[in-house]
Amino acid sequence: MVTHTIIIIIRRRRRRRRRRKKRKKKEKEEERKRREIISEEDTFLWLSKGDLKAETETEIVAAQDQVLQTKYYTTKILNTEIDSKCRLCQQFDETIDHVISACPILAKE
Ligand SMILES: [Zn+2]
Repeated sequence: MVTHTIIIIIRRRRRRRRRRKKRKKKEKEEERKRREIISEEDTFLWLSKGDLKAETETEIVAAQDQVLQTKYYTTKILNTEIDSKCRLCQQFDETIDHVISACPILAKE
């Protein structure tokens, strides 16, 4: 019985290891594809062209650096607020990712 249990545990670990290895391989492949599609030179073209207003450029760079004044940022990083929940839905942390793609209130509009 103990031997049987040990065999089951070993098989589960092997399966998990195989799945993890497969997932990592898939992630590496996706990253490689992403790098092929996205040209690093073209990605930063908007910065070198200089045809954006300074405020717009500042906001874009802040968004890229994840430092926009979201409630999550002001709560966790700046420690100036207590509640990090989204101002609109009050359900999830108000992160940049949430505002851009996951807020159920914004998704309706
Ligand atoms: Zn929300």
